[in-house]
Order: sequence, then C-alpha cells, then structure tokens
Amino acid sequence: MEIRNCPRCRKVFRYITSPVCPDCEKEEEMLFETVVDYVRENPDSNLAAVSLATGVSAKKLLRYVREGRLEISKGMYGEVRCEKCGVPIKKGRYCDSCVISVNRQVEEVFCADGKKYDGVRMHVMDRIKRAR
Ligand SMILES: [Zn+2]
Ligand SMILES: [Zn+2]
Repeated sequence: MEIRNCPRCRKVFRYITSPVCPDCEKEEEMLFETVVDYVRENPDSNLAAVSLATGVSAKKLLRYVREGRLEISKGMYGEVRCEKCGVPIKKGRYCDSCVISVNRQVEEVFCADGKKYDGVRMHVMDRIKRAR
C-alpha cells in the first residue's frame, strides 16, 4: 500500500489509481459536470468565458477536450485544433482524416500477421466512430 500527498489539497491519502485524494476526485468530478452543463446551456461561450464562469482553467478545459470527455461548443470552435494538421476539431487530439491515417499506420503494422487483422480493424473502426 502506497501513501501519497494529494497534489491538490496536500492531504495524505492511500494511492490506488487516482493521482488525487478521494475528496478531490469527487470535487473534480463535480467540476467537470458543472463544465458540461454550462457548455450545454451556453453553446456560444468560448473557452475563456467557460473558464471564467466555471472557475476551471482553460488549460484543464482543453485537457477534457483532448481526453475526449468534453465536446466543444459552437463558441469554442477553432480554439481546439488537430495536433497533426491544425484544422479545428470538436474533441480528441486529431481530426477525422488524421485519426484515419494514424490508425492506418497501426493497421499496416498488424496486417503482416493475417490473424490479427480483423480484430484490429474492428478496433480501429470503433475508434474512428468514437472520435466523431
Ligand atoms: Zn486532495
Ligand atoms: Zn488533422
């Protein structure tokens, strides 16, 4: 068992998987829900406005988007860009066509072994679908 100091509130807690203590984890979850609700109700707000209204830093908002947890609204369009080609995206790290080309590289590696091919392909299709 591992004891850590919570980087958020400095409390000592027993580390399992979360990098912060259970109290902070709950708070983070509530914050995230606040953001989701706010964005849903105020689709014209940009990142800065959402950050101001919810108290969540723009950096953290971007992280939610990159992790695919938060889909950007109309107001944020253009503020999140594909890490590969720079076109505006709605969530995740890459645009649809870059997701496909990144996945194609993965697919080609696995194609050498015919047996793995179908499974990987399904997985790739699933990822592309989810990225939309
Ligand atoms: Zn904490
Ligand atoms: Zn791209």
